[in-house]
Amino acid sequence: MGLLSLGTPLEWEEAKKYADHVRSHGIKQFLSIYNKLKDRKKDHLLWGDEIEYMVVDYDHENKNARLSLRAFDLINELQKSEIEAATNPDIVVETSWRPEYGRYMLEGTPGAPYGGTLDDLLSVEANMILRRNTVMQYMKEGEFPITITSFPRLGCPGEFLTPHYEPTGLATRSMFVPDEVINPHARFPTLTANIRKRRQAKVAINMPIFHDTNTPKPFIDPTIPHDRDVFPEDKEAGEGAALPDHIYMDSMCFGMGCSCLQITFQACNIDEARKLYDHLATVGPIMLALTAAAPVYRGYLADVDCRWNVIAQSVDDRTREERGLEPLNNSKFVIPKSRYDSIDSYLSTDKLYKPEYNDIPLVIDEDICKELMDNGVDEQLARHVAHLFIRDPLVIFEELLEQDDEVSSDHFENLQSTNWQTMRFKPPPPNSPIGWRVEFRSMEIQITDFENAAFAIFIVLLTRAILSFGLNFYIPISKVDENMKTAHKRAAVLEHKFYFRKHVFQDESHSETNSTVDDEYELMTINEIINGKDDGFPGLIPIVNSYLNSLNVDIETRRTLGRYLDFIKCRADGTLMTAATWIRQFIRTHPDYKHDSHVSQEINYDLIRAIEKINKGELKVPELFGDFL
Ligand code: GLU
Ligand code: MG
Repeated sequence: MGLLSLGTPLEWEEAKKYADHVRSHGIKQFLSIYNKLKDRKKDHLLWGDEIEYMVVDYDHENKNARLSLRAFDLINELQKSEIEAATNPDIVVETSWRPEYGRYMLEGTPGAPYGGTLDDLLSVEANMILRRNTVMQYMKEGEFPITITSFPRLGCPGEFLTPHYEPTGLATRSMFVPDEVINPHARFPTLTANIRKRRQAKVAINMPIFHDTNTPKPFIDPTIPHDRDVFPEDKEAGEGAALPDHIYMDSMCFGMGCSCLQITFQACNIDEARKLYDHLATVGPIMLALTAAAPVYRGYLADVDCRWNVIAQSVDDRTREERGLEPLNNSKFVIPKSRYDSIDSYLSTDKLYKPEYNDIPLVIDEDICKELMDNGVDEQLARHVAHLFIRDPLVIFEELLEQDDEVSSDHFENLQSTNWQTMRFKPPPPNSPIGWRVEFRSMEIQITDFENAAFAIFIVLLTRAILSFGLNFYIPISKVDENMKTAHKRAAVLEHKFYFRKHVFQDESHSETNSTVDDEYELMTINEIINGKDDGFPGLIPIVNSYLNSLNVDIETRRTLGRYLDFIKCRADGTLMTAATWIRQFIRTHPDYKHDSHVSQEINYDLIRAIEKINKGELKVPELFGDFL
């Protein structure tokens, strides 16, 4: 989840004194990169996916599946070939590993980026399988690496971690999870504590409960220990932080301890990166709904299917003033969104872009915007960066305060990497062969490597189609935000509609005269967006198919890629369920389920076992995979 610097992290009271220092040098670092590399051209497509795993550990006797804190310790082993390759160029690195926020998590990427050929696409699933098998080699009896977006019983009474710890940690002060759940690298507990201190309260995550036939109304969670008196913050739940009819969570881990599937592309130049950023941003909520895989939190079925808003609330460091609850007095801005949220402005200025598309107020640091523009950055990009820089740096390492802004991007990355938005626009690192990149961040992780490969490949092919056909996906960005809300709804993929542009091929979109941007889009189902519509809207899969038809693809390759695309077609038209729908159904039909929204230890155990069996090919789930697996 970003930058791992070494050193002594400053506590919030100290760190905040250096916020302006980090920001002002961060801007100098950005300018140095921008002015050196803005004209860099002819980079070619390179891309990679990131998969976030959770390691589970079974207690078969007590029918319990727990998260294993040993995952973090495996990183050293997993990184062996990467480390050796640094000094021995003969070593081929096939898989690359990073720690993640949860100590029970691992993040795996291909050892080297994929290139732009179709053969590269054909190697994606194999590399994902290799990654999982690589982790498996280090598993002890009873452990397994799963790809599930939210672990159903994280933060429940009883044992959900191995080893077990009581929830009394100083960094998070949670009533539900101990600090030991957090990656022990100094950055992560400090990030957690500094978000809490900056906010002047614990984070408060409330997701609506799924009211089943026996769920009390109102639902008041009996597992919240209202009488606990360990930290002053313990009173917060009773003082209104915990909402009735909601699943309440009080720690960053409930969000950042979720897993996702991210794809990063290198563009051929900065303009192409800005273009891809914009058009893919409109696809973000569609893919969130289509990959929905997270219907359970802290042992309860939620009335949402995906993780996004949980993470948004889990890292919401805004003060009451910044959230608009009190008049501005000590804080500088009222800020409408969390640091983890959907993007607030489009970036491209090419001929398809119209100013009306950027229709939500963008809070920016005016001084920073001016400094950027005075130094040659155009307004659109300057406003983007000046928006990211309204935030404070959360983790500052004492040893890294002073840097050479011509060679380091550490201060820039400090702010950049803690703005976790649906898309990320990534400047090249200083003095490196890497070009301008964009990251697609909304998708939820899928249970199997086949599914993750399918979604990754689909997004890559979509970017090729966008560029090759000059597609136009622009809609007002406020509508993209509305789509983000809709994407969370239970079964949104089948039961709700999303705003999408009517005419995505350029020549069509220019045919209407006297029309406003509001005539350019309409509400469509995900099936229509993905598979097309009778009125002529082509659908994203048919567009990708015509892109493939425009290439010289051999039959075998076409068949393999076609299988991934067909699978996505079936998820979109409802022939196959999303993981969220399947998990919800698994729970609601389990013999131990009392129709009261409660997901017991035994249900969790059986669900995690089923997920393991699916991965091992021992369990067929036609509702999820049809004949594809
Ligand atoms: N795990 C986070 C998510 O589910 C993303 C963390 C990262 O940026 O790597 O969105
Ligand atoms: Mg990650």
